[in-house]
Amino acid sequence: MSGRLADLAGPAVAEALGPDSVVVQPIGAIEQHGPHLPMSVDAVIADEVASALLAAVGADVDLWLLPTLSVSRSDEHVWSPGTLSISGDTLGRVLDDLAGCVAATGARRLVFLNGHGGNSSLLTTACRDVRLAHGLLAFLVHPFVPPAAGGPSTEEESGFGIHGGLHETALFAHLRPDEVDMGMALRNVPEWMADNRWVRFGGPVQFGWTSRDFGPDGLIGDPTGATPELGRELFDEVVATLAGQVREIADFDFPDAEPNPPRV
Ligand SMILES: [Zn+2]
Repeated sequence: MSGRLADLAGPAVAEALGPDSVVVQPIGAIEQHGPHLPMSVDAVIADEVASALLAAVGADVDLWLLPTLSVSRSDEHVWSPGTLSISGDTLGRVLDDLAGCVAATGARRLVFLNGHGGNSSLLTTACRDVRLAHGLLAFLVHPFVPPAAGGPSTEEESGFGIHGGLHETALFAHLRPDEVDMGMALRNVPEWMADNRWVRFGGPVQFGWTSRDFGPDGLIGDPTGATPELGRELFDEVVATLAGQVREIADFDFPDAEPNPPRV
């Protein structure tokens, strides 16, 4: 059996979930995405991808979706009023609380499905925290591995399609065609960084940044070529990739694991 945890009656949880269950926490964001997209982009993508993932693997993986956490750490966009952000510290505590609730169901595997690149390092840390604090097997997956976390970006965007760019805009145009204003889409690629060998997104030298550091428009990338058709292709690819990842997660374990000491 698989489905959405919140749809179960309380007493049914003990029957439905167990050691083989994979629990997925989709995490989105409500943050400015430039003039052509609504602030809900990351929350919608995380939610839709999670639903499609359930449809894709629910018959053969004991997969349970938690309700999408729509607001997360978006402090790189708080210069733009309307962006909703909770601190890294608060988000870490929320995830720790939720992981404790997941552990109480008898499930052993918790997957963070991250729709917002700005959460990547925090969620990597959270995976270890959850492992130590609750003994769960914890995983982090992305619809797109963000370029800032080592994922690919398009050539047209010189590796800078990180926020409201071609792929994200296309994917959202597939999911919510009426909510994209392509008349407002503009290119904002920081060409001045393109030849950097070390200091670049996904490069060996990390750097602190906010989206305001790249000008007043709020996006970083080039969404002007985005179409719903491209978005549909990307969506299908993303779901197929995640389905493979979740199948491997369902079988993943540490064969020689010893109990960890309590967290210090
Ligand atoms: Zn986004």
